[in-house]
Amino acid sequence: MARTRLVAGNWKMHGSRASNRALLGAILKGGVRGAECAVCVPFPYLAEAAEQLRGSAVALGAQNVSEHAQGAYTGEVSAAMLKELGCRYAIVGHSERRQLYGESDAQVAAKFAAAAASGLTPILCVGETLAEREAGRTEEVVGRQLDAVLKVADFGNSVLAYEPVWAIGTGRNATPQQAQEVHAFLRKRIAPASRILYGGSVKPQNAAAIFAMADVDGGLIGGASLVAEDFLAILKAASAAGGN
Ligand code: PEP
Repeated sequence: MARTRLVAGNWKMHGSRASNRALLGAILKGGVRGAECAVCVPFPYLAEAAEQLRGSAVALGAQNVSEHAQGAYTGEVSAAMLKELGCRYAIVGHSERRQLYGESDAQVAAKFAAAAASGLTPILCVGETLAEREAGRTEEVVGRQLDAVLKVADFGNSVLAYEPVWAIGTGRNATPQQAQEVHAFLRKRIAPASRILYGGSVKPQNAAAIFAMADVDGGLIGGASLVAEDFLAILKAASAAGGN
């Protein structure tokens, strides 16, 4: 079953109108071939990014989405709004949302369902903390996080991202073998055609080795997605790895 590689950038709360324009311009100039590419941009910049990316091979995504369709939810953004702005993807359950904003497995599952129902492709993040890994609980934790979603929604052609919490923004990536082990475990719960990305300190230097793994279908990239040269190099590594 061929799975096209996907490299998605998660800009987090970074950027400005000027720096976004320069970054996207450089990515578009570098070109995207042989792998899919997406950028998940802060809410206020989505419309402008959509305009700049129109007609290009770079897809647009959001970093979060409300579990509610509409109503009195001050500060929230619905899936329909994201869809209207031109988003294809929405990240749900990023560990920063789970840890800093207290999002539960059930809430993440509701966000996933709301995104999918509006025609967005959710990128569901799962991952264990260092303490959980050291206690031998990795599979239990990521399995629980994924199962919460599978209880309320069909995974369909959504994207799963394995992001060990200890590897995010720390410069300490999982080894390709550690990533492969968890991806193979997760793969058994979803359709063979569904893509599983690895995220956590992916850089140009380690991308090829991580993407060489049989069940790693691309990457969710934080810090390195803010540097055009690095993001393009990671895209190139994904493209060189070919389909899985
Ligand atoms: C992320 O935020 O999803 C991420 C993987 O960050 P970084 O690449 O910086 O570790």
